[in-house]
Amino acid sequence: MTILDNYKKIKDNIKNNYPENDPVIIAVSKTFNLDYIYPLIKYGHKHFGENKVQEAVAKWSDYKRENSDIKLHMIGKLQSNKAKDAFKLFDYIHSLDNQKLALKLKNLEQNSNKRLKYFIQVNLGDEEQKSGISINELSDFQNYCKLDIGLNVIGLMCIPPQHEGTSKYFAEISKLNSHYGFNHLSMGMTSDYKEALKYKSTYLRIGSAIFGSRY
Ligand SMILES: *Cc1c(COP(=O)(O)O)cnc(C)c1O
Repeated sequence: MTILDNYKKIKDNIKNNYPENDPVIIAVSKTFNLDYIYPLIKYGHKHFGENKVQEAVAKWSDYKRENSDIKLHMIGKLQSNKAKDAFKLFDYIHSLDNQKLALKLKNLEQNSNKRLKYFIQVNLGDEEQKSGISINELSDFQNYCKLDIGLNVIGLMCIPPQHEGTSKYFAEISKLNSHYGFNHLSMGMTSDYKEALKYKSTYLRIGSAIFGSRY
């Protein structure tokens, strides 16, 4: 199976089993180089995800300068001191999770014509090792981002706890997402994207099912 076969299989699967959904597939290309990814770009796929700013800048900067239709998604933890580089390269940030970062991004927007789209990452299981805002801080934080500083937040994002049933987390965040009036929802990876579609995910972040194992 080539990466293109893998990709088409996922597309078909979604079309056949979830005909109501029309999610964006973010092809998570972290650790893979551009040559390897290229068949998918050539096929016409536009959305790619990375989790490290430095790697993404090295990989994509030149290519994106010539191909502005490529949309890049920052899906990993974003340190404030990398916000500037991230802002320049990415179109979407899925990991907005603290005020300092939000304000930094707002300042960058004010000094530029560029506007990004944002997801607020929620730490559903309150897992210490995972980033994301906890549910009890979410109400204030989303108000701050949307109303106080005016970032274009389009939805919530989550990475549910690994060793438990994901459905209850997907159900919970889907409900919160509607509650706050967001139109988009970023959830679902290789292992659980089908489940995520049942809970109205609109942005799937799929890596290994397309590109193969990273290790
Ligand atoms: C790596 C990564 C993915 C993709 O994971 P796969 O299991 O390979 O599909 C999705 N979301 C985030 C935040 C990631 O870091």
